[in-house]
Amino acid sequence: MARPEDCYRCGGPTCGYVYDPDRGDKRGKIPQGTPFSDLPDDWKCPVCGAGKKSFCCSAESNPSG
Ligand SMILES: [Zn+2]
Repeated sequence: MARPEDCYRCGGPTCGYVYDPDRGDKRGKIPQGTPFSDLPDDWKCPVCGAGKKSFCCSAESNPSG
């Protein structure tokens, strides 16, 4: 798992998917080691289909508030 500041959490209320650059996204054909900022603009959450704009930095999101 990459550092929290390198991971991005999907903003979908029931999704919970986190993009981890160490893992990439097989479904989206994103190779391992790709930073979130380097994902194509048309990349979508592999779970719920939300766009990049729906994602927030994992380090900044607070599950309890
Ligand atoms: Zn999602």
